[in-house]
Amino acid sequence: MEDFETIECDVLVVGAGGAGLRAAIAASEYGANVALVSKSLLGKAHTVMAEGGVAAALGNADQRDNWKVHFRDTIRGSKNLANWEMAKIHAEKSPERVRELERWGAVFDRTDKGKISQRNFGGHRYPRLAHVGDRTGLEIIRTLQDHAVHTDNIDIFMECTVCDILKSNDRTVGALAYYRSSGKLVVFEAGSIVLATGGIGKAYRVTSNSWEYTGDGHALAYLAGADLVDMEFVQFHPTGMVWPPSVKGTLVTEGVRGEGGILVNSEDERFMFNYIPEVFAAETAKSEDEANAWLRGEEGAMRPPELLTRDVVARAIMTEVKEGRGSPHGGAFLDIASRQSPDYIKRKLPSMYHQFKELATLDITKEPMEVGPTTHYMMGGIKVEASTAASTVLGLYAAGEAAAGMHGANRLGGNSLSDLLVFGKIAGQSATNFAQENSKIAPHGEDIEKSITKALEPFERGLPERRMPNYPSGPRKSTHELGKDGGEENPYQIHQELQEIMESHVGIVRTGEELEKGIQKLEELKKKLPNMHSKGGREYNPGWHLSLDLHNMIITSLALARAALERTESRGAHTRLDFPEYDDELGKVNMVVRPGTGGMAVVRSPLPQMPAELKEYVLKEAV
Ligand code: FAD
Repeated sequence: MEDFETIECDVLVVGAGGAGLRAAIAASEYGANVALVSKSLLGKAHTVMAEGGVAAALGNADQRDNWKVHFRDTIRGSKNLANWEMAKIHAEKSPERVRELERWGAVFDRTDKGKISQRNFGGHRYPRLAHVGDRTGLEIIRTLQDHAVHTDNIDIFMECTVCDILKSNDRTVGALAYYRSSGKLVVFEAGSIVLATGGIGKAYRVTSNSWEYTGDGHALAYLAGADLVDMEFVQFHPTGMVWPPSVKGTLVTEGVRGEGGILVNSEDERFMFNYIPEVFAAETAKSEDEANAWLRGEEGAMRPPELLTRDVVARAIMTEVKEGRGSPHGGAFLDIASRQSPDYIKRKLPSMYHQFKELATLDITKEPMEVGPTTHYMMGGIKVEASTAASTVLGLYAAGEAAAGMHGANRLGGNSLSDLLVFGKIAGQSATNFAQENSKIAPHGEDIEKSITKALEPFERGLPERRMPNYPSGPRKSTHELGKDGGEENPYQIHQELQEIMESHVGIVRTGEELEKGIQKLEELKKKLPNMHSKGGREYNPGWHLSLDLHNMIITSLALARAALERTESRGAHTRLDFPEYDDELGKVNMVVRPGTGGMAVVRSPLPQMPAELKEYVLKEAV
């Protein structure tokens, strides 16, 4: 068998973004030896990219705010599909987690009275997002990282990718990983595992996500036998850059709208007034005058329609474009220049100012930005128990974007950072309990061997020596150049095909017919995976890494498309043109995707019953 290194730990945390770091800190506080593994360098996760802020009902900007209002907003934003217990724990615990960050050294923006400043964001009744300009994620990851690296019993493994979970007797016992730089293999023998691997955005072409988001945690859990839930719900953030093409999809934070930015179409109309859904009518401004009162900070003023939930705003922009009122590059105009002074914009939105200056040669203090929807966040993920973050597989836990249940059909901005703090801690604690209460089992040699064979398969499949077709004695092809000729499949080509399928068949608007076509194409693409070939050595070989990532992306994409086909209604981020309305019966169930004997199965799982007192609160009009 191939050589491999063995690392023993009590808790293996896969992913070193906010969720993984918070889980690792909790596990070490509870006495576990922790191995914290990250596919990229420490500090490079998506958490660092977060701009707008972290949602917590601190009540600093408006004293009427409290956990109950935050809970109500989250459930409403989720279109009633969020797991109520998770939403309750999240709303109750977020303030504690944010204050804890402050104690650990995070320097949030301040109010005049020296309290943590909070800004408005879509779907939040009161200003609720604690922030650091538009670089909140950077401050959060810096603080968590500082705290974690000064903790004795956390060992950090950077540029190390987990590619398989090892089990024994239906319980997780470890994982196989490879170092990206050397290609060397490592087996982690672990008492329990926390998956904190983030989302799946790289399955789509236009996305705000980076190369790390290939659905690894989702697929690792699924292959280990765990249930996935809410996979049909992908958040298309309404405001990504649409121009120039090289940066299409890059996020434009909702903070721009939170600071007063408005959306305008090519006819100079502030169109969001035309898209206010009934459920938010009582608390949304319906005219320029009402919206201006909010901008002036008048007491009791209603929020502008640009701060409706993301699903509503994204669909509105799509409709404007479809009906011929889009901006020149197929989006809408986002204007903050006419609302705030250049100094204010530069102070509150410094990253946005620089992003547009450098990437689009546009000064946002003078001109409107052009924006359109971009694949941003995966509401669906590993099904977990609210109070423990335990998946349906023994010894396997999940937190952050890889887990699901908190956000239902639509996530409110800012709720991801608080979600990963709250449930990261819970996952670390519970995983430690499990590791301490159950004696460790070493992975079986045979299972390790199988796992290694699978990881190295792409190297085994190559033809002995290949030359460019027209130049038989010419240079050898690089991994990038390998193509379909000769029976080999190029991972880059497959990735491109996958992104096209997801974009055109499983995108922001869907139909049963398109979804069926998409599933068929994904199944065809899946058949090509065994023919992917990696040339060259194992040191820094991106073709090999992508070959392994593609298995994960195809599993998550299929889960997504199948769940989307099963949900024959439109709700939150899931829009079916053939079923444009809510279906009350489907509003009572989550879609669960699980590995069945006949392959991937989608089953309807009744929502846990919310206590009457909370239900009544959610239904109340303005609070
Ligand atoms: P991440 O922070 O992405 O961490 C995932 C980790 O897993 C990484 O370390 C990665 O290397 C590792 N990993 C993945 N696969 C493997 C593997 N196989 N083996 C080993 N390691 C692996 N949310 C908010 O609440 N407020 C905001 O203002 C906000 N702004 C955002 C702006 C942008 C541009 C983006 C992209 C997202 C934003 N979000 C925001 C969403 C939020 O940032 C993410 O959902 C959140 O940070 C996810 O945290 P995480 O810990 O789950 O994952």
